[in-house]
Amino acid sequence: MAVIYDRVALIGLGLIASSMAHAMHRAGVAGEIVGTARSEETRRIAEEINLCDRVVATAAEAVDGADLVVLCVPVGAMEAVAKEIAPALKAGAVVSDVGSVKRPVIEAVGPHLPEGVHFIPAHPLAGTEHSGPRAGFAELFDNRWCILVPEGADAGETVKYRGYWEALGAHVDEMEAEHHDLVLAVTSHAPHLIAYTMVGVADDLRRVTDSEVIKYSAAGFRDFTRIAASDPTMWRDVFLSNKDATLEILGRFTEELFVLQRAIRAGDGDLLHDYFTRTRAIRRGIIEAGQDTDAPDFGRSGAKR
Ligand code: NAP
Repeated sequence: MAVIYDRVALIGLGLIASSMAHAMHRAGVAGEIVGTARSEETRRIAEEINLCDRVVATAAEAVDGADLVVLCVPVGAMEAVAKEIAPALKAGAVVSDVGSVKRPVIEAVGPHLPEGVHFIPAHPLAGTEHSGPRAGFAELFDNRWCILVPEGADAGETVKYRGYWEALGAHVDEMEAEHHDLVLAVTSHAPHLIAYTMVGVADDLRRVTDSEVIKYSAAGFRDFTRIAASDPTMWRDVFLSNKDATLEILGRFTEELFVLQRAIRAGDGDLLHDYFTRTRAIRRGIIEAGQDTDAPDFGRSGAKR
C-alpha cells in the first residue's frame, strides 16, 4: 500500500498506539513512525521491540516535522499534551486522538492548537483489557469501527485521514461528538462500570464464600472479570469526563433492574422470558453485523484480543 503520511507521531505508546504502529507497519502507510511516552521504561520497551522507527524523549520532539500526530494518552492527560506540542506542530499537520470520549477531548485539546493545523478527533472502537507497549497487535482494528468527529475540519484532510484508518483495517464513520458520547455510554462505558461493580460485589462475597467465587467462576462472571481488569487510569478518566451520559444510562439501567427484580419477586416468568428473548436478538444482530463470532469458548480462550 502507498504511504499516506510521510511522518506519523504517536504520543503515548500503550495498547492503542502500539497496535497502530503494528498496523501501520503492516499497511505501509507511514514513511516514518516516531513515538514517545511519558516514562523511560515504556520508551525503552518500545525501542527493544522495534515498535517505531524512532523513539524520542518528549512529545514536542516527536511532533517536530510530523504530518500526522495522534494523541494516545488517557483522556485526562490530553490537555497537557496539547499544550506541550502546540508550539512545535508543523503548519498543515493533522492532529488527532484516540480518546474514548469526544466532547471533553475536543474542549481540552482544540483551544491549544495553532491556526493552520487540522484537528480531526477519532475513536477506534477496539480494545482489550491489556495495556502498555507490548499489548498491541496489528489486527486490533480489523473489521472494527473507527468514529471520526471532524467538526468542520478540512474535507480533503478528513477524507485522507479516513483512508488512513481504513488502511489500518477499520471501517470508518463520522458522528457528532455528543452523539458519540451517548452511544458509547450505552455500548461501552456503562457496561464497564457494571462489570467493575459486579466483580466488586463478588470480591465482598468471597469473604463469605471462602474463595469459591474464584474457584467455580462461571463464564458470565469470568467475562465480567475480563472487562473489570481494564486499565484503572483510562476508565477513571472516561467516567469523570463522560459524566452526564454515563449517569443518564445508569439511571435507565437501574430502572430496568427494578423491573426485573419485581418480576422475579412476583414470579412473572412471562416478563422475564420476553425480556431475555429481546436481548438475545441483539446478540444475534451483533454477530450478523460481523462484530463478534458465535463460536462458543465459554471465556476460556485466554486470547489477547
Ligand atoms: P495504555 O495502554 O494504558 O497507554 C497509555 C499511554 O499513555 C502510555 O504510554 C502512558 O505512558 C501514557 N500516559 C499515561 N498517563 C499519562 C500522562 N498523564 N501524561 C502523558 N502520558 C501519559 O492506554 P490505551 O489503552 O492505549 O489508551 C490510550 C487512549 O486510547 C485513551 O485515551 C483511551 O481512552 C483510548 N482508547 C482505549 C481503548 C482500550 O480498550 N484500551 C479503546 C479505544 C480507545 P507510560 O507508559 O510512560 O506510563
